[in-house]
Amino acid sequence: MKKKILLILLIFFVTGCYKKNYINTQIIEEKNMLISINYPVTNTKLDTIIKKDIEHIYNEFKNKNYYYDLRRAELNIDYIFEKIDKYISVTLFIYINSPDNIITNYVKTYVYDNKLLNIGDFVKDTKLLNRLLNEKLIKSNVKIENKDISLFSINKDEIIIYFLKDEIVTIKIKLEDLNIKLKNNEQIVNKEVIIPDQNIDFKNKVVAITFDDGPSRYTDEIIEYLYSNRCSSTFFVLGNKVNDYKEVLKKSLSYGNELGNHSYSHKLLTKLDKEKLLEQINRTQDAIEEVTGYIPKILRPTYGSVNKLLRESTNLDIILWNVDTLDWKYKSINKIVSRAVYNLKDGNIILMHDTNRKTLLSLKKIIPILKNNGYKCVTVSELKEIKLLRDLYE
Ligand code: ZN
Repeated sequence: MKKKILLILLIFFVTGCYKKNYINTQIIEEKNMLISINYPVTNTKLDTIIKKDIEHIYNEFKNKNYYYDLRRAELNIDYIFEKIDKYISVTLFIYINSPDNIITNYVKTYVYDNKLLNIGDFVKDTKLLNRLLNEKLIKSNVKIENKDISLFSINKDEIIIYFLKDEIVTIKIKLEDLNIKLKNNEQIVNKEVIIPDQNIDFKNKVVAITFDDGPSRYTDEIIEYLYSNRCSSTFFVLGNKVNDYKEVLKKSLSYGNELGNHSYSHKLLTKLDKEKLLEQINRTQDAIEEVTGYIPKILRPTYGSVNKLLRESTNLDIILWNVDTLDWKYKSINKIVSRAVYNLKDGNIILMHDTNRKTLLSLKKIIPILKNNGYKCVTVSELKEIKLLRDLYE
């Protein structure tokens, strides 16, 4: 525990004066429905349009009566969000896994500049576009009967066109080839961060408080509170949120917290094939490393579900919990607090979520109780190290 880790950070510094963008995530686990909805908040009128579409998808899913099925049904909505030049581009990826393991995959796209644009508003030379598209389709050996291009998105280099067949067919065309030039605002800056040490006597009683599903707009306040109380914790991060909370994640590390992997878009990992499973894990590893320079060593599987394939597919330590506060579910702060400290034991791993105001309010009661009982909060990896030291010296 006495080692200092020096991190060289690559920070993608966005110039310009965009308003802060937040992602909204809703994760619901009720009866046999696992629902994880992720979407960006763009601070434009587009938000209303996206919200309406998501509500529609959510209601349709709920109305299918999966609620009473004994097997689990999953709805997962993930997104890509780009802001380039004057354009906003949002793509929603909708994934539904029914209790019979029938997977439905589709996308919804929004390219916005004060109004929703269609591809003709964006690409003036449609003849050229069609020629390039046909070439790409022939090259990739895909037959599309109806070449109606209503699903498309953009990033700084390319236009991406989606066709819905059994799988989603994705065709990328370089903006350069379409003679389109967009202003790009990103530049790279180097920075150093030192992760401070917690000097903890391994004989001290310890607990590890862990937070899943973040970061969110509440994370900053949570880490400030933990820091002012000399608490270190572990944050199991969703990969798709990393880019919107770069500063919070860097600060979290510099305050002595640990970052872990909680998948990219909160899909139920135990129902994915190996390729999709690795994608969920690796994209998150890459995103965290790119933004903070830190490589997570631990994984908390979504919904706490683990199987053989998951164990065999990753070198990351799989970390579950033994105290579930159900902070996402209960409205009463006192109930959350009493769940956290009811069976207070040395070495407990407590599950919370930094996606909620209630969590911060509960922490403000939990931490003093821990202190009064002689406990220190450590990260999951520190907990592991403490146990090793005890085995060695006791
Ligand atoms: Zn989760």
